[in-house]
Amino acid sequence: QAKAAGRNAYRFYDSQYARELSDRLILENELRLALERKQFVLHYQPQLDVYSGEITGIEALLRWQHPQHGLVPPDRFIPIAEDSGLIVPIGDWVLRAACAQAHAWRVAGLLDAPMAVNLSARQFDQPDLPEQIASVLEATGLPATRLELELTESLVMREPERSSDTLSRCKALGLTIAIDDFGTGYSSLAYLRRFPIDRLKIDRSFIKDIVDEPDDAAIAQAIIAMAHSLRLNVVAEGVESDAQLSLLRQWHCGIYQGFLSSRPLPGEALTALLRGMKAAGVAELAPPPLQH
Ligand code: C2E
Ligand code: MG
Ligand code: MG
Ligand code: MG
Repeated sequence: QAKAAGRNAYRFYDSQYARELSDRLILENELRLALERKQFVLHYQPQLDVYSGEITGIEALLRWQHPQHGLVPPDRFIPIAEDSGLIVPIGDWVLRAACAQAHAWRVAGLLDAPMAVNLSARQFDQPDLPEQIASVLEATGLPATRLELELTESLVMREPERSSDTLSRCKALGLTIAIDDFGTGYSSLAYLRRFPIDRLKIDRSFIKDIVDEPDDAAIAQAIIAMAHSLRLNVVAEGVESDAQLSLLRQWHCGIYQGFLSSRPLPGEALTALLRGMKAAGVAELAPPPLQH
């Protein structure tokens, strides 16, 4: 009895696994064609000064406009793109598109803040990454000072010596480096400080409960204070409420990003928003929070 049930369970697991595998293969094949079919889009999320509400930067976030599945979020396809190596050409497209958009906003007199682009491990491992970035900057016309690279701590920690070298070569171009999702990789801030980095982005999981959980508040506050003493500037990710924002102000966390001020928006939507701000002569995006 038990044996039969076990065998059935195994078969069930087996077919489930087969289905997942074939879904994945289909996805990977579609992903291969997505670039030439121009199915990728970037959405842009503003980063704001916690006190003034002015936009101090923008993060470019990738989405896949899939003909059947609609707008697919990055967590669903970036791991596959990473495993298959497709992330390299996709990442190159992201960098170009983001720099071109940032340049367009500058030229239109709408926004002159750095554009932050997420890099994956495979991209970071390209030996000529700094040269690739330099050529994108030249092609798009964006000054290097208006580009920021976001890398996770686990990514830079894999091969510290090599990472440090790559980061130095990138920084020599004039751009800035941010550590993304800080706090999730268990690395010490003291160690991380040996890398040529400019800012920390505190992971949203550490910001989520700062209003209700004293321990979480203590951790976030300590990260902010320590980052400052190491001369790093700090961005809080995933800020969704006024109560969170007011704590961040108290703790002098300089910059925040989150649904409170804006979700990631398509380029045209953010352009319209920036035009509206310019026409009204206002420099601050929030408060009041945007409606969605
Ligand atoms: P990330 O770089 O940490 O980006 C922040 C994520 O948090 C984004 O999710 C954003 O939409 C979301 N977010 C922002 N504010 C809030 C908030 O207030 N509440 C909540 N719940 N979420 C918020 P998204 O766009 O789905 O991106 C997920 C991850 O995918 C990114 O995390 C990044 O690691 C990766 N990713 C996105 N675009 C790219 C890309 O062009 N290249 C690479 N390599 N990775 C990318
Ligand atoms: Mg990021
Ligand atoms: Mg993050
Ligand atoms: Mg993340």
